[in-house]
Amino acid sequence: MSHPFHDLRKRFESISNEQTGYTTCKLREWIEDHLGHVLAIKPDAEFNGTMMQGFHWYSDGDGQHWNRLAADAPALAAAGISGIWFPPATKGFGGVNDVGYGIYDLFDLGEFPYPNGQVRTKYGTREEFILAAESCRNHGIEVYADVVFNHKMGGEFQEEYEAIPVSFSNRNQELGPPRMIRSYTGFDFPARGNQYSTMKWRWQHFSAVDYNSLDPGFKAIWRKVDKPFNAEVDWENGNYDFLMGCDLDVDHPEVRGELVHWGKWMLEAAPIAGFRLDAIKHIEGDFFNDWLDQLEAYAGRNLFCVGEYWTTKLDTLSWYIGNTGGRMHLFDAPLQNNFHHASRSGGAFDMRTILNGTLMKEFPLYAVTLVENHDTQPLQALEAVVEAWFKPLAYAIILLRSEGYPCIFTADYYGANYTGKGRDGQDYSISLTRHKAIIDILLLARRMFAHGPQHSYLDHFNCIGWTRVGTAQHPHALAVILSDGPAGTKWMDVGKPLASFQDITGHLHHIIHSNADGWAEFHCNGGSVSVWVEQHEGLSELL
Ligand code: CA
Repeated sequence: MSHPFHDLRKRFESISNEQTGYTTCKLREWIEDHLGHVLAIKPDAEFNGTMMQGFHWYSDGDGQHWNRLAADAPALAAAGISGIWFPPATKGFGGVNDVGYGIYDLFDLGEFPYPNGQVRTKYGTREEFILAAESCRNHGIEVYADVVFNHKMGGEFQEEYEAIPVSFSNRNQELGPPRMIRSYTGFDFPARGNQYSTMKWRWQHFSAVDYNSLDPGFKAIWRKVDKPFNAEVDWENGNYDFLMGCDLDVDHPEVRGELVHWGKWMLEAAPIAGFRLDAIKHIEGDFFNDWLDQLEAYAGRNLFCVGEYWTTKLDTLSWYIGNTGGRMHLFDAPLQNNFHHASRSGGAFDMRTILNGTLMKEFPLYAVTLVENHDTQPLQALEAVVEAWFKPLAYAIILLRSEGYPCIFTADYYGANYTGKGRDGQDYSISLTRHKAIIDILLLARRMFAHGPQHSYLDHFNCIGWTRVGTAQHPHALAVILSDGPAGTKWMDVGKPLASFQDITGHLHHIIHSNADGWAEFHCNGGSVSVWVEQHEGLSELL
């Protein structure tokens, strides 16, 4: 399946700049000068693909997850899902309890009895992973594999080597002279042996660790003596190269070679259309340029890539987009943060600003838009919950506007119930509302009606709206109106004189008629969204 988003990417020279040197505005100017129209239009206006994040932090760890994804593929394809972000297929040090980000062995997809004799991952076995990917591919859904390259965890044995202690809160501050430390940096992969790769990892392959068994009471990050942290990383804590575990030194030629080898191996292992790149704010900005170029040359095709650079700072995201030369999309963390605040403001959020500071608004071609993910969901590390009442409004924004490649969170679609510890150490039971009914309606509207030019009316404190006037191929128009406060109305140009519109959400039941100029006054309930579609022959069969 050819995915139009693959062809969007335009390579522009890396901008060599200080991280704070390029403002969003300057970068946009620069891109527009060099790429002209690219920011303004989609190459294929008729393509309305939708991604799903196919897991959440508390997805059932019974080993049946790959089987469920395989079984769900036909229904998801029918609903309009065109790409699925799979959870990490690789073995975590926590074995069957590891969500996958505590990565231990990149080459164990649930095939080797480690740790504790456990073969499968949280999600199932290697064979089941491949079958799930094939099932999705066979139903026209692209699979994006989760790539965890920043760190490794669960080394089998300790090594002694020389390191410098640095502060957690300021990684540029040394806490003392170099000394010998002892840490779990030895990875021989005894269960796998030399299958798929003969590389054994040693302390030389890591830039830093956070554990020294010779002095466990000394809380520090232990940086390898001869190797400063990479400069082309996020600048939080002075330098955010180190996140956790054994931090990979991606400047080491053996590490670089191994990660390219793994990427090629992964492309051969299963039908993968692209990658979701984990924790990229902790990895040298130039690393993935080289990695992706090598993999695309090997595959002979474009690979869709979306990176997790989790920050609400638009200028930082702009810098990263510039640095990667447009090779990858980024998750729209600022948009998710706006949704979080709007949902918590009880109607006091200025809805005119809902897109302010977002990738969706400033770099729509590089934005993967989202409402929630496995890190923002309740009890998780970056918890930034979007309250249930606001989710239909947020999903209407990402699914029915023209900007961005939207990603639906599986726990929003199916709902979820789980228990876990909060930041205060207490146990909590969480119940996430199932929004499948409304999301399916929005997906239908996305496929059938969200086409062509867009007129925006982000012009009222509570109530905003927009219209899509259609194309030759999808001629029927759409008007969306939503309010985080009281019920609202809005005059909007829907481009269709003397046409009739009905609200396919079912929230309102009257018919609205446009005037001879193609305008109409549309309505929505308080704290709600209505999606008005143009009535025509065959509409009732669609609904
Ligand atoms: Ca790193």
